Amino acid sequence: MDIFDFSEGREGYYGEYGGVFLPEILHATIEELLACFRQCKADPTFWREYVELLQNYSGRPTPVTHLANLSQQLGGAQIYVKRDDLNHTGSHKINNVMGQGLLCKRLGKRRVIAETGAGQHGFATATMAARFGFDCKIYMGAVDVARQRPNVFWMENLGAEVIAVQDGQRTLKDAINECMRDWVANMDDTHYVLGTACGPHPFPEMVSWFQSIIGLEAREQLLGLTGKLPDRVYACVGGGSNAIGIFQGFLSDDNVELIGCEAGGLGAGSNLHAARLAYNDASVGVAQGFKTYFLQNDQGNMNETHSIAAGLDYIGVNPIFSYLWEQGKVRFEAATDEQVKDALRLCMRTEGLIPALESTHAFVTAIDEAPSMGRDEIILINQSGRGDKDIFTIADALDDQKWKDFICAKADQYRQEKN
Ligand SMILES: *Cc1c(COP(=O)(O)O)cnc(C)c1O
Repeated sequence: MDIFDFSEGREGYYGEYGGVFLPEILHATIEELLACFRQCKADPTFWREYVELLQNYSGRPTPVTHLANLSQQLGGAQIYVKRDDLNHTGSHKINNVMGQGLLCKRLGKRRVIAETGAGQHGFATATMAARFGFDCKIYMGAVDVARQRPNVFWMENLGAEVIAVQDGQRTLKDAINECMRDWVANMDDTHYVLGTACGPHPFPEMVSWFQSIIGLEAREQLLGLTGKLPDRVYACVGGGSNAIGIFQGFLSDDNVELIGCEAGGLGAGSNLHAARLAYNDASVGVAQGFKTYFLQNDQGNMNETHSIAAGLDYIGVNPIFSYLWEQGKVRFEAATDEQVKDALRLCMRTEGLIPALESTHAFVTAIDEAPSMGRDEIILINQSGRGDKDIFTIADALDDQKWKDFICAKADQYRQEKN
Protein backbone atom coordinates (compact mmCIF):
# COMPACT_ATOMS: atom_id res chain seq x y z
CA MET A 1 0.00 0.00 0.00
CA ASP A 2 1.37 3.42 -0.94
CA ILE A 3 -0.04 5.92 1.53
CA PHE A 4 1.73 8.73 -0.30
CA ASP A 5 0.01 8.15 -3.63
CA PHE A 6 -2.28 11.19 -3.77
CA SER A 7 -3.43 10.62 -7.35
CA GLU A 8 -6.95 9.71 -6.21
CA GLY A 9 -7.25 11.98 -3.19
CA ARG A 10 -6.22 15.43 -2.11
CA GLU A 11 -2.46 15.98 -1.91
CA GLY A 12 -1.25 15.85 1.69
CA TYR A 13 -4.39 14.16 3.01
CA TYR A 14 -4.65 10.69 4.51
CA GLY A 15 -8.40 10.11 4.49
CA GLU A 16 -9.64 13.34 6.09
CA TYR A 17 -6.42 13.91 8.11
CA GLY A 18 -3.36 16.02 7.40
CA GLY A 19 -3.52 19.06 5.12
CA VAL A 20 -2.04 22.52 5.45
CA PHE A 21 -3.61 24.95 7.91
CA LEU A 22 -1.23 27.88 8.03
CA PRO A 23 -1.41 31.66 7.76
CA GLU A 24 -1.45 32.87 4.15
CA ILE A 25 1.99 34.42 4.53
CA LEU A 26 3.65 31.00 4.89
CA HIS A 27 2.11 29.46 1.77
CA ALA A 28 4.92 30.50 -0.59
CA THR A 29 7.52 28.98 1.76
CA ILE A 30 5.58 25.74 2.12
CA GLU A 31 5.20 25.56 -1.69
CA GLU A 32 8.94 26.09 -2.10
CA LEU A 33 9.65 23.36 0.45
CA LEU A 34 7.19 20.99 -1.22
CA ALA A 35 8.73 21.55 -4.67
CA CYS A 36 12.24 20.91 -3.33
CA PHE A 37 11.08 17.80 -1.45
CA ARG A 38 9.36 16.42 -4.58
CA GLN A 39 12.62 16.93 -6.50
CA CYS A 40 14.69 15.18 -3.83
CA LYS A 41 12.26 12.27 -3.54
CA ALA A 42 12.40 11.70 -7.29
CA ASP A 43 16.19 11.90 -7.40
CA PRO A 44 18.03 8.62 -6.60
CA THR A 45 21.30 10.50 -6.03
CA PHE A 46 19.69 12.42 -3.16
CA TRP A 47 18.67 9.21 -1.38
CA ARG A 48 22.12 7.73 -1.97
CA GLU A 49 23.78 10.80 -0.49
CA TYR A 50 21.41 10.57 2.48
CA VAL A 51 22.19 6.89 3.15
CA GLU A 52 25.93 7.48 2.86
CA LEU A 53 25.76 10.38 5.29
CA LEU A 54 23.98 8.25 7.89
CA GLN A 55 26.37 5.36 7.34
CA ASN A 56 29.47 7.48 7.77
CA TYR A 57 28.21 9.85 10.44
CA SER A 58 25.63 8.02 12.52
CA GLY A 59 26.56 4.35 12.32
CA ARG A 60 23.83 2.99 10.03
CA PRO A 61 22.74 0.38 9.33
CA THR A 62 21.84 -0.18 12.98
CA PRO A 63 21.72 -3.91 13.81
CA VAL A 64 18.81 -6.21 14.57
CA THR A 65 19.38 -8.15 17.81
CA HIS A 66 17.72 -11.46 18.78
CA LEU A 67 16.64 -11.40 22.45
CA ALA A 68 17.16 -15.11 23.14
CA ASN A 69 17.01 -14.81 26.95
CA LEU A 70 13.83 -12.76 27.05
CA SER A 71 12.14 -14.93 24.39
CA GLN A 72 12.91 -18.07 26.37
CA GLN A 73 11.81 -16.55 29.67
CA LEU A 74 8.46 -15.46 28.23
CA GLY A 75 8.01 -18.81 26.50
CA GLY A 76 6.30 -17.57 23.34
CA ALA A 77 7.32 -15.66 20.22
CA GLN A 78 10.95 -15.02 19.26
CA ILE A 79 11.73 -11.37 19.99
CA TYR A 80 14.00 -9.28 17.76
CA VAL A 81 14.93 -5.63 18.28
CA LYS A 82 15.86 -2.99 15.71
CA ARG A 83 18.62 -1.00 17.39
CA ASP A 84 18.05 2.64 16.41
CA ASP A 85 19.34 3.47 19.90
CA LEU A 86 22.84 2.97 18.49
CA ASN A 87 22.63 6.10 16.32
CA HIS A 88 24.76 9.18 17.04
CA THR A 89 22.91 11.40 19.57
CA GLY A 90 21.12 8.32 20.88
CA SER A 91 17.94 7.95 18.86
CA HIS A 92 16.21 7.77 15.48
CA LYS A 93 15.80 11.57 15.47
CA ILE A 94 19.11 11.97 13.65
CA ASN A 95 17.64 10.23 10.54
CA ASN A 96 15.07 12.98 10.05
CA VAL A 97 17.38 15.82 11.01
CA MET A 98 20.21 14.83 8.65
CA GLY A 99 17.73 14.39 5.80
CA GLN A 100 16.29 17.85 6.37
CA GLY A 101 19.84 19.22 6.59
CA LEU A 102 20.58 17.95 3.08
CA LEU A 103 17.29 19.35 1.88
CA CYS A 104 18.02 22.72 3.48
CA LYS A 105 21.30 22.85 1.56
CA ARG A 106 19.39 22.28 -1.69
CA LEU A 107 16.95 25.03 -0.72
CA GLY A 108 19.97 27.35 -0.44
CA LYS A 109 19.05 28.36 3.12
CA ARG A 110 21.65 28.83 5.81
CA ARG A 111 19.66 29.13 8.99
CA VAL A 112 17.62 26.43 10.76
CA ILE A 113 15.13 26.67 13.62
CA ALA A 114 13.44 23.90 15.57
CA GLU A 115 11.05 23.28 18.45
CA THR A 116 11.94 20.84 21.17
CA GLY A 117 10.18 19.39 24.22
CA ALA A 118 12.52 17.16 26.16
CA GLY A 119 15.43 18.47 24.11
CA GLN A 120 16.27 15.36 22.07
CA HIS A 121 15.18 16.86 18.76
CA GLY A 122 16.89 20.16 19.59
CA PHE A 123 20.09 18.29 20.45
CA ALA A 124 19.99 16.37 17.14
CA THR A 125 19.23 19.57 15.18
CA ALA A 126 22.09 21.48 16.84
CA THR A 127 24.40 18.58 15.92
CA MET A 128 23.27 18.68 12.30
CA ALA A 129 23.64 22.48 12.15
CA ALA A 130 27.20 22.27 13.44
CA ARG A 131 28.07 19.65 10.84
CA PHE A 132 26.49 21.62 7.96
CA GLY A 133 27.57 25.08 9.12
CA PHE A 134 24.04 26.48 9.56
CA ASP A 135 23.02 29.11 12.11
CA CYS A 136 20.69 27.42 14.57
CA LYS A 137 18.03 28.61 16.99
CA ILE A 138 16.12 26.16 19.19
CA TYR A 139 12.78 27.08 20.83
CA MET A 140 12.05 25.33 24.09
CA GLY A 141 9.42 26.03 26.77
CA ALA A 142 10.96 27.68 29.85
CA VAL A 143 9.65 24.84 32.04
CA ASP A 144 11.42 22.31 29.82
CA VAL A 145 14.64 24.37 29.79
CA ALA A 146 14.67 24.16 33.57
CA ARG A 147 14.08 20.41 33.74
CA GLN A 148 16.29 19.32 30.82
CA ARG A 149 19.59 20.98 31.67
CA PRO A 150 21.91 18.39 30.05
CA ASN A 151 20.32 18.77 26.61
CA VAL A 152 20.37 22.58 26.88
CA PHE A 153 24.05 22.37 27.80
CA TRP A 154 24.87 20.28 24.72
CA MET A 155 22.79 22.41 22.34
CA GLU A 156 24.55 25.58 23.48
CA ASN A 157 27.99 24.01 23.28
CA LEU A 158 27.22 22.74 19.78
CA GLY A 159 26.73 26.38 18.83
CA ALA A 160 22.93 26.71 18.90
CA GLU A 161 21.05 29.51 20.58
CA VAL A 162 18.38 28.15 22.93
CA ILE A 163 15.34 30.38 23.46
CA ALA A 164 13.33 29.75 26.64
CA VAL A 165 9.70 30.41 25.64
CA GLN A 166 7.71 32.17 28.37
CA ASP A 167 4.22 31.98 26.80
CA GLY A 168 1.32 29.74 27.83
CA GLN A 169 2.23 26.68 29.86
CA ARG A 170 5.85 27.20 28.73
CA THR A 171 6.18 23.70 27.25
CA LEU A 172 6.36 22.03 23.81
CA LYS A 173 3.12 23.41 22.34
CA ASP A 174 4.20 26.97 23.17
CA ALA A 175 7.68 26.34 21.72
CA ILE A 176 6.06 25.23 18.43
CA ASN A 177 3.97 28.42 18.24
CA GLU A 178 7.03 30.60 18.87
CA CYS A 179 9.03 28.70 16.27
CA MET A 180 6.26 29.32 13.71
CA ARG A 181 6.45 33.05 14.45
CA ASP A 182 10.20 33.01 13.78
CA TRP A 183 9.58 31.18 10.49
CA VAL A 184 7.04 33.79 9.37
CA ALA A 185 9.52 36.58 10.10
CA ASN A 186 12.55 34.92 8.50
CA MET A 187 11.31 32.56 5.81
CA ASP A 188 13.69 33.88 3.14
CA ASP A 189 16.79 32.37 4.71
CA THR A 190 15.34 29.94 7.28
CA HIS A 191 14.21 26.32 7.20
CA TYR A 192 12.01 24.97 10.01
CA VAL A 193 13.27 21.49 10.98
CA LEU A 194 10.09 19.91 12.35
CA GLY A 195 10.88 16.99 14.65
CA THR A 196 8.17 14.41 14.05
CA ALA A 197 5.65 13.19 11.45
CA CYS A 198 3.13 15.91 12.36
CA GLY A 199 2.47 19.49 11.28
CA PRO A 200 1.42 20.78 7.85
CA HIS A 201 2.04 18.90 4.60
CA PRO A 202 4.70 18.02 3.45
CA PHE A 203 6.20 17.46 6.92
CA PRO A 204 4.36 14.19 7.77
CA GLU A 205 5.34 12.71 4.39
CA MET A 206 8.87 14.12 4.46
CA VAL A 207 9.70 12.97 8.00
CA SER A 208 8.17 9.55 7.21
CA TRP A 209 10.33 9.29 4.11
CA PHE A 210 13.54 9.94 6.02
CA GLN A 211 12.52 7.54 8.80
CA SER A 212 11.57 4.80 6.31
CA ILE A 213 15.25 3.84 6.35
CA ILE A 214 14.52 2.03 9.66
CA GLY A 215 11.90 -0.24 8.13
CA LEU A 216 13.78 -0.84 4.86
CA GLU A 217 16.85 -1.99 6.78
CA ALA A 218 14.91 -4.03 9.35
CA ARG A 219 12.98 -5.95 6.70
CA GLU A 220 16.17 -7.06 4.92
CA GLN A 221 17.98 -7.81 8.17
CA LEU A 222 15.19 -9.91 9.62
CA LEU A 223 14.79 -11.86 6.38
CA GLY A 224 18.55 -12.47 6.45
CA LEU A 225 18.49 -13.65 10.07
CA THR A 226 15.33 -15.76 10.06
CA GLY A 227 14.26 -16.20 6.43
CA LYS A 228 10.85 -14.85 7.45
CA LEU A 229 8.92 -11.64 7.93
CA PRO A 230 7.82 -10.73 11.46
CA ASP A 231 4.30 -11.63 12.60
CA ARG A 232 4.05 -8.42 14.61
CA VAL A 233 5.98 -5.13 14.69
CA TYR A 234 5.82 -2.88 17.78
CA ALA A 235 6.90 0.76 18.03
CA CYS A 236 6.20 3.58 20.49
CA VAL A 237 4.19 6.55 19.23
CA GLY A 238 4.75 10.14 20.33
CA GLY A 239 4.29 12.26 17.23
CA GLY A 240 4.68 8.99 15.35
CA SER A 241 7.93 9.24 13.38
CA ASN A 242 9.91 6.19 14.55
CA ALA A 243 6.76 4.05 14.29
CA ILE A 244 5.85 5.09 10.73
CA GLY A 245 9.56 4.66 9.95
CA ILE A 246 9.69 0.99 10.85
CA PHE A 247 6.12 0.24 9.73
CA GLN A 248 6.91 1.37 6.17
CA GLY A 249 9.05 -1.74 5.75
CA PHE A 250 5.90 -3.86 6.18
CA LEU A 251 2.86 -1.81 5.12
CA SER A 252 2.27 -3.92 2.02
CA ASP A 253 2.51 -7.24 3.89
CA ASP A 254 -0.99 -8.28 4.89
CA ASN A 255 0.30 -10.92 7.32
CA VAL A 256 2.40 -8.51 9.37
CA GLU A 257 0.46 -6.89 12.18
CA LEU A 258 1.54 -3.36 13.13
CA ILE A 259 1.11 -2.15 16.71
CA GLY A 260 1.62 1.44 17.89
CA CYS A 261 2.25 1.90 21.63
CA GLU A 262 1.18 5.18 23.21
CA ALA A 263 1.88 6.72 26.61
CA GLY A 264 -0.71 5.46 29.10
CA GLY A 265 0.78 7.70 31.85
CA LEU A 266 -1.23 7.17 35.02
CA GLY A 267 -3.79 5.06 33.17
CA ALA A 268 -7.12 5.23 31.30
CA GLY A 269 -9.56 7.64 32.92
CA SER A 270 -6.78 9.49 34.79
CA ASN A 271 -6.64 12.28 32.21
CA LEU A 272 -2.89 12.18 32.81
CA HIS A 273 -1.69 10.34 29.72
CA ALA A 274 -1.01 10.86 26.01
CA ALA A 275 -2.89 7.82 24.65
CA ARG A 276 -4.85 9.61 21.97
CA LEU A 277 -5.99 6.56 20.02
CA ALA A 278 -5.54 3.61 22.42
CA TYR A 279 -7.76 5.19 25.11
CA ASN A 280 -10.15 6.65 22.56
CA ASP A 281 -9.98 9.94 24.47
CA ALA A 282 -9.10 12.28 21.62
CA SER A 283 -11.26 14.06 19.07
CA VAL A 284 -10.61 15.37 15.58
CA GLY A 285 -9.44 18.94 15.36
CA VAL A 286 -7.14 21.36 13.59
CA ALA A 287 -4.11 22.75 15.43
CA GLN A 288 -0.46 23.54 14.75
CA GLY A 289 -0.97 23.44 11.01
CA PHE A 290 -2.77 20.12 10.48
CA LYS A 291 -5.87 18.04 11.12
CA THR A 292 -5.73 14.93 13.31
CA TYR A 293 -6.88 13.45 16.63
CA PHE A 294 -5.96 15.76 19.52
CA LEU A 295 -6.44 15.43 23.27
CA GLN A 296 -8.70 18.43 23.79
CA ASN A 297 -11.77 19.48 25.74
CA ASP A 298 -15.21 20.29 24.34
CA GLN A 299 -14.18 23.89 23.65
CA GLY A 300 -11.21 22.74 21.59
CA ASN A 301 -8.66 23.75 24.24
CA MET A 302 -5.73 21.35 24.38
CA ASN A 303 -5.47 19.11 27.46
CA GLU A 304 -2.42 18.71 29.67
CA THR A 305 -0.74 15.44 28.84
CA HIS A 306 1.58 13.34 30.95
CA SER A 307 4.05 10.53 30.43
CA ILE A 308 7.12 9.28 32.24
CA ALA A 309 8.68 9.52 28.75
CA ALA A 310 8.95 13.18 27.74
CA GLY A 311 9.21 12.25 24.03
CA LEU A 312 5.71 10.71 24.02
CA ASP A 313 4.11 13.60 25.88
CA TYR A 314 2.27 15.29 22.98
CA ILE A 315 -1.38 16.22 22.34
CA GLY A 316 -1.60 15.18 18.67
CA VAL A 317 -0.72 12.21 16.51
CA ASN A 318 0.70 11.66 13.03
CA PRO A 319 -2.26 12.20 10.62
CA ILE A 320 -1.20 9.08 8.71
CA PHE A 321 -1.85 7.05 11.86
CA SER A 322 -5.29 8.59 12.38
CA TYR A 323 -6.12 7.22 8.94
CA LEU A 324 -4.40 3.82 9.30
CA TRP A 325 -6.09 3.35 12.69
CA GLU A 326 -9.54 3.98 11.22
CA GLN A 327 -8.69 1.61 8.37
CA GLY A 328 -7.77 -1.10 10.90
CA LYS A 329 -4.25 -1.25 9.47
CA VAL A 330 -2.48 -0.30 12.70
CA ARG A 331 -3.61 -1.38 16.18
CA PHE A 332 -2.98 1.00 19.09
CA GLU A 333 -2.22 0.02 22.68
CA ALA A 334 -1.01 2.02 25.67
CA ALA A 335 1.57 1.33 28.37
CA THR A 336 1.33 3.01 31.77
CA ASP A 337 4.30 4.56 33.59
CA GLU A 338 4.16 1.68 36.08
CA GLN A 339 4.34 -0.97 33.34
CA VAL A 340 7.21 0.88 31.68
CA LYS A 341 9.20 0.75 34.93
CA ASP A 342 8.76 -3.02 35.18
CA ALA A 343 9.58 -3.70 31.51
CA LEU A 344 12.70 -1.56 31.72
CA ARG A 345 13.92 -3.53 34.73
CA LEU A 346 13.28 -6.79 32.85
CA CYS A 347 15.15 -5.61 29.70
CA MET A 348 18.14 -4.51 31.73
CA ARG A 349 18.37 -7.69 33.79
CA THR A 350 17.69 -10.31 31.09
CA GLU A 351 19.34 -8.74 28.05
CA GLY A 352 21.60 -5.92 29.21
CA LEU A 353 19.60 -3.47 27.10
CA ILE A 354 18.80 0.05 28.32
CA PRO A 355 16.02 1.30 26.06
CA ALA A 356 14.86 4.91 26.33
CA LEU A 357 11.68 5.31 28.39
CA GLU A 358 9.86 6.09 25.12
CA SER A 359 11.00 2.86 23.45
CA THR A 360 10.19 0.85 26.57
CA HIS A 361 6.49 1.47 25.86
CA ALA A 362 6.82 -0.80 22.81
CA PHE A 363 8.55 -3.43 24.94
CA VAL A 364 5.64 -3.41 27.43
CA THR A 365 3.08 -4.37 24.82
CA ALA A 366 5.37 -6.91 23.15
CA ILE A 367 6.25 -8.54 26.50
CA ASP A 368 2.56 -8.67 27.32
CA GLU A 369 1.61 -10.39 24.07
CA ALA A 370 4.62 -12.65 23.36
CA PRO A 371 3.65 -15.48 25.77
CA SER A 372 0.37 -16.14 23.94
CA MET A 373 2.14 -16.48 20.58
CA GLY A 374 3.79 -19.61 19.14
CA ARG A 375 7.51 -20.28 19.54
CA ASP A 376 7.98 -20.12 15.78
CA GLU A 377 6.34 -16.71 15.55
CA ILE A 378 8.45 -13.55 15.32
CA ILE A 379 8.13 -10.19 17.03
CA LEU A 380 10.09 -7.12 15.96
CA ILE A 381 10.40 -4.18 18.37
CA ASN A 382 11.80 -0.79 17.39
CA GLN A 383 14.20 0.44 20.05
CA SER A 384 13.97 4.09 19.01
CA GLY A 385 16.51 5.37 21.53
CA ARG A 386 18.78 4.63 24.45
CA GLY A 387 18.08 5.31 28.09
CA ASP A 388 21.23 7.28 28.99
CA LYS A 389 19.32 10.56 28.84
CA ASP A 390 16.74 9.19 31.30
CA ILE A 391 19.18 8.39 34.08
CA PHE A 392 17.68 10.79 36.66
CA THR A 393 14.07 9.96 35.82
CA ILE A 394 14.80 6.25 35.95
CA ALA A 395 16.69 6.58 39.23
CA ASP A 396 13.65 8.31 40.77
CA ALA A 397 11.19 5.87 39.21
CA LEU A 398 13.01 2.78 40.46
CA ASP A 399 13.13 4.22 44.00
CA ASP A 400 9.72 3.18 45.32
CA GLN A 401 9.31 5.97 47.87
CA LYS A 402 10.31 8.68 45.41
CA TRP A 403 7.95 7.15 42.86
CA LYS A 404 5.01 7.29 45.28
CA ASP A 405 5.82 10.93 46.07
CA PHE A 406 5.92 11.71 42.35
CA ILE A 407 2.54 10.07 41.66
CA CYS A 408 0.93 11.88 44.62
CA ALA A 409 2.36 15.24 43.52
CA LYS A 410 1.04 14.69 39.98
CA ALA A 411 -2.41 13.78 41.27
CA ASP A 412 -2.46 16.90 43.50
CA GLN A 413 -1.40 19.08 40.61
CA TYR A 414 -4.20 17.65 38.49
CA ARG A 415 -6.83 18.22 41.18
CA GLN A 416 -5.70 21.84 41.60
CA GLU A 417 -5.79 22.50 37.88
CA LYS A 418 -9.32 21.09 37.68
CA ASN A 419 -10.59 23.35 40.49
C1 LIG B 1 11.36 11.77 20.45
C2 LIG B 1 11.39 10.32 20.71
C3 LIG B 1 10.28 9.49 20.47
C4 LIG B 1 8.95 10.01 20.04
O1 LIG B 1 8.88 10.55 18.78
P1 LIG B 1 8.23 9.82 17.54
O2 LIG B 1 8.13 10.90 16.52
O3 LIG B 1 6.89 9.29 17.95
O4 LIG B 1 9.13 8.73 17.13
C5 LIG B 1 10.43 8.13 20.66
N1 LIG B 1 11.58 7.59 21.11
C6 LIG B 1 12.67 8.36 21.36
C7 LIG B 1 13.91 7.71 21.85
C8 LIG B 1 12.61 9.75 21.17
O5 LIG B 1 13.70 10.50 21.44
